Amino acid sequence: EDRDDQHGAQWPPPSMDFSKPTIARAYDALLGGKDNYAADRELAEYATQNIPGIKESAWENRKVLVRGVRYLAAEAGIDQFLDLGSGLPTVQNTHEVAQTHNPDARVVYVDIDPLVTVHGQALLAENDNTKVFTADVRDPAAVLGHPEAHGLLDFDRPVALMLVGMLHYLSPDVADSVVSTYRDALAPGSCLFLTSLVDTGLPAQQELARITRESLEEGWARTPDEIEYHFGDFDLIEPGVSYTALWRPDELVDANNLAPGEQLGMAGIGFKKK
Ligand code: SAM
Repeated sequence: EDRDDQHGAQWPPPSMDFSKPTIARAYDALLGGKDNYAADRELAEYATQNIPGIKESAWENRKVLVRGVRYLAAEAGIDQFLDLGSGLPTVQNTHEVAQTHNPDARVVYVDIDPLVTVHGQALLAENDNTKVFTADVRDPAAVLGHPEAHGLLDFDRPVALMLVGMLHYLSPDVADSVVSTYRDALAPGSCLFLTSLVDTGLPAQQELARITRESLEEGWARTPDEIEYHFGDFDLIEPGVSYTALWRPDELVDANNLAPGEQLGMAGIGFKKK
């Protein structure tokens, strides 16, 4: 066992196995973060060798997360965020973006990887409007019933439910019931913010899904229609479900000339009718 003076003698706790990669740590490695281990870096390196543009695509996903949260906090008046599959803290986390535009915005982070809670709690020690806990998104009752969720968020008012870079870890046999349970739990005026690995017929997309399934158990590429399906009867805002780089970009992007890394993921935000 490693001794890690940052975390004390009980490190790692029995729930963490650093010899196998996890989604959160491998994604952190792709983004060039430091909360990852050799197994995570090996997987990130393997994916980088085999999937052109994967690092760029991870950054496109982070950038659309920031644009989406900024839009919700600054323009749509959303002040509550439930960020599911939030990942390890990185630059411009959801609470930082939301609270820049509305200091009273409340953010709850949920991730299956306990390391997210360890690092999240350290980052959030002084922030009463932001909480993080460990749970499996595939168990909506456990997430919605968790004291940190309903303690901080008022589900009688609009909430932004985020499954950003997360929908593709829900297998087709559970995704519908999981996502629709969350949709149903939201008050009118709430919204769903999804980003996902997409399948538009490019080989790299299914190849990435396959590598992810083989090394991390889950990984599913969905067609744009399959992504849109998960919005149910929510009203999608412009431009609908589109490549992340083309979703309300800050700078002009040539839709006819997308780089490989700009064709791996799609994003969308839809609102529950009032
Ligand atoms: N949302 C962040 C973003 O878009 O930058 C992080 C995305 S990262 C690719 C996916 C995250 O989802 C990982 O941190 C992983 O641990 C988490 N995750 C995957 N399956 C999950 C599940 N069933 N329940 C909770 N979290 C899950």
